[in-house]
Amino acid sequence: MTPHSIDGLTLLRPGTAAYDEARQVWNAMIDRRPRLVVRCTSPGDVAAGIALARSEGLEVGVRCGGHSIVGHAVPDQGLMLDLTPMAAVRVDPVRRRAWIQGGALLGALDVATQEHGLATTAGNVSHTGVGGLALGGGMGWLARQHGLTCDNVESFELVTAAGEVVRASATENPELYWGLRGGGGNFGVVSEFELRLHETGTQALTVELDFPVAVAAEPMRRWRDLSAAAPRPATYAASVFGGIATLGFVWVGDPEVGRAHARVLGSLGEPVARRVVELSYVDLQRREDTLEGHAQRRYWKGHYLRELPDEAIAALLEHDPAMGASLQAYGGAIAEVPPDATAFSHRDTAFEYVGAARWTDPAEDDDRIATARACAARLAPFSSGTYVNTLGDDGNDGVRLAYPPATLARLTALKDRYDPANVFHLNQNIPPSAPPAG
Ligand code: FAD
Repeated sequence: MTPHSIDGLTLLRPGTAAYDEARQVWNAMIDRRPRLVVRCTSPGDVAAGIALARSEGLEVGVRCGGHSIVGHAVPDQGLMLDLTPMAAVRVDPVRRRAWIQGGALLGALDVATQEHGLATTAGNVSHTGVGGLALGGGMGWLARQHGLTCDNVESFELVTAAGEVVRASATENPELYWGLRGGGGNFGVVSEFELRLHETGTQALTVELDFPVAVAAEPMRRWRDLSAAAPRPATYAASVFGGIATLGFVWVGDPEVGRAHARVLGSLGEPVARRVVELSYVDLQRREDTLEGHAQRRYWKGHYLRELPDEAIAALLEHDPAMGASLQAYGGAIAEVPPDATAFSHRDTAFEYVGAARWTDPAEDDDRIATARACAARLAPFSSGTYVNTLGDDGNDGVRLAYPPATLARLTALKDRYDPANVFHLNQNIPPSAPPAG
């Protein structure tokens, strides 16, 4: 290998602290060693990194926030394109637009836009990457008001497997624009996202009522029914952990209106604890940062649910108390986008379920994973599919749960066009229709 011949590229190799930092990702179970890490600062670096990997026959991993549960960003003995130096966010408050480089984290987007009382949909943990989240869909507390993150992308700048820099928008390469909104990292490396912003103010409210799981079935059924009629600033959310079911909603907007809405939760019955917290939008977006922090071993499984029948509620409440289970409501603006308008297709989702385990001792790996799988399996009869960004080690079966057949066929055609050699296969992979030669 002759990496020094690549002018101006910053390369990290085994044996340095910077290399070890770059290969560490959110899930502590991932401990892989790329042969080379390319610290990318521009689309040109990305193109040079791809060319280097192809000439050396190295697998390519693309790293933004490093939150892929299966660590797709880190190729063992391959070449990691580390996008984290490309973390800048630029905001035009008049045009209500933000330009976010492909390695930025959600927190940077939220902070930069909130300076102007603006925001766009981002996920619930601020150390998640914009890259992976937006390319898979992007669910967050603003989605019922403004759609998923991908619904707010005005344009993409993308480096292809051939090293070309192309743009995708409603008018430029529209089929690629369709595929990048939900199709993940299959078609190239996004060096910049242009996002539409919304006037959201800076205030939020969370309302949480705790019920022991033994008596939580009826309150949860009522909570489900209220969710169906909830106003868009409210995203109903529930969790079950350690014998307690927490039911409530997150409100983005005027907290007084949110407090008034909270009165409907009186019909759930008498909780053992009730928390109503007013906070800034930026703090809301950081609320789970510590709980969902790095350096723990992680496993999860998820389902999309079009309905939440009583039987599904019963199955959820029977989860192993050491497992965390969560529900987050969809609907509103998410459901108004036609299912074939973007590669993200599950527009009729009522709730997303995620069953998640975290632990620190490697000796517990098998037990924890088996428990999480068993809990999720109980919800499987009610599943209408899966969010691609929640998929783990499910391979082609998982991809088929993320995309209906017609969407998958369209994505395959796009893959044939932009990445026929499947250079970008360390992802929830959409293989090209013909196996790559050699
Ligand atoms: P990475 O591991 O860096 O990237 C994952 C994959 O995305 C890469 O392998 C690559 O294929 C692709 N990719 C990343 N950046 C680029 C780019 N610039 N160009 C091309 N391809 C790229 N999802 C939600 O929708 N809403 C949430 O609220 C939410 N909360 C989460 C909280 C936590 C703690 C975690 C761990 C995940 C959460 N997710 C959420 C899921 C999240 O969307 C996925 O894990 C996503 O893959 C993370 O993206 P990343 O950039 O951090 O990950």
